[in-house]
Parts: sequence; C-alpha cells; structure tokens
Amino acid sequence: MIFNVLTIFPEMFAPFREHGIIKRAIDRNLVSVSTTNIRDFAKGKHRITDDRPYGGGSGMVVMPEPLAHAIRAVKKESPSSRTILLTPQGRRFTQKTAEDFASEEGLIFVCGRYEGVDERICHDFIDDEISIGDYVLTGGELASMIIMDAVVRLVPGALGNADSAARDSFSDNLLAHAQYTRPRSFEGEKVPDVLLSGHHQQIEEWRFEESLIRTFLKRQDLLKKRPLTEREIEILKKWCRNIEKIIYAQSACRFDALSGDE
Ligand code: SAM
Repeated sequence: MIFNVLTIFPEMFAPFREHGIIKRAIDRNLVSVSTTNIRDFAKGKHRITDDRPYGGGSGMVVMPEPLAHAIRAVKKESPSSRTILLTPQGRRFTQKTAEDFASEEGLIFVCGRYEGVDERICHDFIDDEISIGDYVLTGGELASMIIMDAVVRLVPGALGNADSAARDSFSDNLLAHAQYTRPRSFEGEKVPDVLLSGHHQQIEEWRFEESLIRTFLKRQDLLKKRPLTEREIEILKKWCRNIEKIIYAQSACRFDALSGDE
C-alpha cells in the first residue's frame, strides 16, 4: 500500500512514521508513507500556495495551479492510486471506508488549509471527498493520519495477530468485548472468573455475549444494522428475561411495602 500526502506541512509526518504499527509496517515494506510539498510546485520566489477568495470574504484559499501540478506529479508515479480530498464536506470516514481503502493499491491525500481548496480541483482531480467527522480542523494533515492509521491495521501482515482486526469494534457491526490484564484484582474489582478458567470455548462464548450486550447498551444503531442469528436472539431474550425478573422483584417489594402501610 502506497500512501502519498500532498501538504504544505510535510514535517508533520515525520513523527507519524516513526512509531508503533505504522513504523513496523514501513520497516517490513508493507506500506510506504511519502509526502509531497505543494509549495515545491508553486511559482515565484516566495512559492505562495494561497490567495484571497474571489467575491471577497475572510481567509485564504489554496490555489489550484500548484495543487494540480503536485497531484499530476504524484499520479504519474502512482497511476493506480485513489486521490482523496480531505474536507469536512466529504462522506464520513468509517471502519467500512477503511476496509474499502485497504484493498486499494495506493491512496493520495490532498490536505487543504485556510478556507479550503479552489473548487475546480474538486471537479477534475479528486476521486473521493472524505471527512473524519462533523467538526472543522485547521488542515487535512491530521485527518489523513487518522485514515492511514485505520487503514494500515487492515493491511495483511501489519498487525502481529491477524485475528485482532477482525475482532475490532465495528467489524460485523459489533463492539469489541471487554479486555482485562494483570492484576487479577484491581482496587477491589476482580477479573471475571471465566477468563481465568482456561476453558477456551466458555471464554469465547462469554466474550461473544459480552460483545453483543455491550453493543446493545452502547450502540444500538449498530445492532439494528446487523442481521441477528438465532443464537444472538436467544442471548438478547435471556437478558430481557433477567431484566424483567429484576423489575418484577422490585415491583413486588414496592407492592408489599405499600400493603404494609395500610
Ligand atoms: N471552509 C471549509 C468548510 O467550512 O468546509 C473548512 C476549511 S478547514 C478550516 C481547512 C482544511 O482542513 C480543509 O480544506 C480540509 O482539508 C481540512 N479539514 C477540516 N476539517 C476536516 C474534517 N472534518 N475532515 C477532513 N478534513 C478536514
């Protein structure tokens, strides 16, 4: 997977390349992360890349010429890469988008700054417009790093354990189950017994139920998108029955208390 980022701040990417899974994936030649300075394609002594907006108004706009030259130069090197403009107006980045991007040969990220990029760039040079959420950043650099970070985890061989990504939250519209590590007891709270039992099937079953109920409690929107299996329906019904029992017991206590008052 080839990542190339078009930016006026290429130095922001040095620390990004030098740590964790990204560094390991680069070292293993699974991915490459290169940057292209848009300024290198700007004309004049000062290599200016922005100008005032036509029609007036505040702020500056990234000029089309240097950006177009930069995109063409990078495209020439990686003709099969997908060109992505980072913009708060794009379609929302999700785990599904990360999965789709992981199957691309390469991704070229165009990072805007100021008030954004000249609209004509969006028309002729961009395959996809992506937003990382409904908020406005000062530039596309952090957004591109977030996307690369999520995509790299899905590149075969990048994670130590190939199973980890498949068990992550949002795979199959479920949240990941709770995790525990040493010590067995932390400030009075113990690790669930089943995880210490060494019984793999029971651990798997516990984890699956945990994951399903956690998704129900925290993100019902995900469960609504998931076609539930018989087993999942059974687990949810079991929890409903348990909740009903608690409510029934509470109501009975209240009724007894009221009867005693009379
Ligand atoms: N004026 C633009 C608007 O309201 O749509 C916002 C421009 S923003 C200050 C500057 C740059 O940051 C954008 O061109 C884009 O590259 C990047 N950016 C800001 N928010 C983003 C987001 N939520 N997702 C992806 N990129 C973002």
